Amino acid sequence: MNFDRSGADALMEITSRPELVFVRGQGSWLEDHEGKRYLDFIQGWAVNCLGHCPEPVVKALQQQAATLLNPSPAFYNEPSMNLARRITSASCFDRVFFANSGAEANEGAIKLARKWGQLKRNGAYKIITMDHSFHGRTLATMSASGKPGWDRIFAPQVDGFPKADLNDLDSVRALVDDQTVAIMLEPVQGEGGVIPATRDFMQGLRALADEHGLLLIVDEVQTGYGRTGKLFAYELSGVEPDIMTLGKGIGAGVPLAALCAREAVSVFAHGDQGGTYNGNPLMTAAGIAVFDTLTAPGFLDSVQARAQQLSEGLWDLSAKWGMGGERGEGLLRALLLGRDEGPAIVDAARNWAPEGMLLNAPRPNLLRFMPALNVTEQDMDTMLARLDEVIAKVRS
Ligand code: PMP
Repeated sequence: MNFDRSGADALMEITSRPELVFVRGQGSWLEDHEGKRYLDFIQGWAVNCLGHCPEPVVKALQQQAATLLNPSPAFYNEPSMNLARRITSASCFDRVFFANSGAEANEGAIKLARKWGQLKRNGAYKIITMDHSFHGRTLATMSASGKPGWDRIFAPQVDGFPKADLNDLDSVRALVDDQTVAIMLEPVQGEGGVIPATRDFMQGLRALADEHGLLLIVDEVQTGYGRTGKLFAYELSGVEPDIMTLGKGIGAGVPLAALCAREAVSVFAHGDQGGTYNGNPLMTAAGIAVFDTLTAPGFLDSVQARAQQLSEGLWDLSAKWGMGGERGEGLLRALLLGRDEGPAIVDAARNWAPEGMLLNAPRPNLLRFMPALNVTEQDMDTMLARLDEVIAKVRS
């Protein structure tokens, strides 16, 4: 597969890319520069929660682009206020700050917790995070992340992120000292291999935080906005956090993220956090279209129905091919392959003819599935049937 590389050579390489250029997308399908179609079960790493080019979002963008693009973050604008109100009405949070990426939202969450620690907790600043967690690629969020190797590559790290083991309350408790201000985690570790935090663990963390006067921060950049079948994944645990970050699906394809906090924690003053594009009305207008689609009657029920279909299909494949089962929440699921054949399956699925399929293997021994939340029953069946064929080819 060849294409004019002169433009590609001008890009700074940040990731290894297959020789593939996508030119358009619709729903669960992408088309490359040669007209080949791909069934997309990555959806930009769970970003396109409504698939490619969803009509309500495209319309909202067109309308907003022709009305008001960027008045300045120094003034209010209607889309931002309206989206903030929607999010606070649907959650346990009172205040929202709109960011441009998940990493920026998490950077804001870390700063907010540290400022709260300065004001209310005698300068406590440490935030306990989890091994194998992923919170972004700014320096502080890389330091907060438990990704192996990151502690060395960009050393020295930002100080103050001791790491505990996910789902092991004792390991968190052992790290709490009088410098600790917060505990931060993903309700389901996404990049770490689709590992849900258990309900007991979440409830234990809330109790531990309350006992020691700590903040509980959930990073819902990957799990929020319907991905788990609930609007926010924290709802699954029956626990109410103090701070939540959102990203990816909140904009359904446009760069929008959010930092949400309870009133008592919302201690940012003028100038503490912000930037040129924060709360940009073009992005928040798209965000309103996404929110209204996700919260329309029946939408989350259909996410749960598709999740059930995916889960059952993966269990069938696991049984047929002697794999280790599947896990996850809602439409964020992993098939445990039992051997390191993830990259081979991903490549074979992409190269399948006449139609390819996009899958992801965050670890060599598992596949991660992040379809559009409105994926059709038929596209789900197609993916499962084709995956069966791809596995047969890889194992032959
Ligand atoms: N937190 C989590 C849980 C994520 O999955 C990601 C992205 N994979 C991020 C933060 C970073 O988001 P962004 O790429 O928008 O900076």
